[in-house]
Amino acid sequence: MTSEKGPSAGDPTLKRRIEPWEFEAFFDPRELRKEACLLYEIKWGASHRIWRNTGKNTASHAEVNFIEKFTSERDSDSPISCSITWFLSWSPCWECSKAIREFLSQHPRVTLVIYVARLFWHVDQQNRQGLRDLINSGVTVQVMRVSEYCHCWRNFVNYPPGKEASCPTYPPLWTTLYALELHCIILSLPPCLKISRKRQNQLTFFRLTLQNCHYQTIPPHILLATGLIQPSVTWR
Ligand SMILES: [Zn+2]
Repeated sequence: MTSEKGPSAGDPTLKRRIEPWEFEAFFDPRELRKEACLLYEIKWGASHRIWRNTGKNTASHAEVNFIEKFTSERDSDSPISCSITWFLSWSPCWECSKAIREFLSQHPRVTLVIYVARLFWHVDQQNRQGLRDLINSGVTVQVMRVSEYCHCWRNFVNYPPGKEASCPTYPPLWTTLYALELHCIILSLPPCLKISRKRQNQLTFFRLTLQNCHYQTIPPHILLATGLIQPSVTWR
C-alpha cells in the first residue's frame, strides 16, 4: 500500500534522507557533479535490522569520512560480523580504495559491497589499479542498475507522499556503458569509454572505442548488451 504520509514513517533506523533533487543531481549517470554522495547500510551479525545513513564529501572524501566515523564509534575487535553496503555516486579514487583496503584489513569481520552510479576519472591508471586492488581484496564493486536506484529512492530519499514508486529512471545505456568499462578495469584492458562534457549546452557525451583486445577479451554478451555492437553472422 502506498503511504500517504511520506517516507519517514515506519523506518526507525533511518537517520537522514536526501531530497529528491539531490538524488537526481548526485546519481544521474549523465551528470558529472563534482562532489560525491554516499548512501550506506550497515547490518550486524544475523540481525535483520538495517542502519542507514548518508554522507557527502567534506574536506575529506565521503569514503574516508565513513571509515573515520565507523572506526571512532566501534571497537575493531568486535566479534560480531558486519555487512556494509555503499551506494556511491562516484566510484572510489585510488586513495580511497587504499584507505578502504586498510580499513577492511583492520576489520576482518566486515564485508563491503559497493554500488556506483559512475566511474570516477576512470582513464586514470591509479584509479583503475585502485579499483582492481579493491576487487581483488574481496570487495564487490558493481554499477548501479534500476533495482539499486529504486532501492535507494525508497530507503534514502525524502520522496513526496505517495511517490514511493516514482524513482527517476535513466536510459539503461549509460549504466551498460559504465558496467562495460568496469569490466575493462577488472580485466586490465585499456579504457574503451570516453566521456566529455560540452560547456555550451552542458550535455555529456559518451564515446565507445573498442580495440581488438576488447573484442578478444570481453565476453560477447557484455559487448552485445550495449546495443552498439552487432552480432556477427556467418552466411553459408
Ligand atoms: Zn576518494
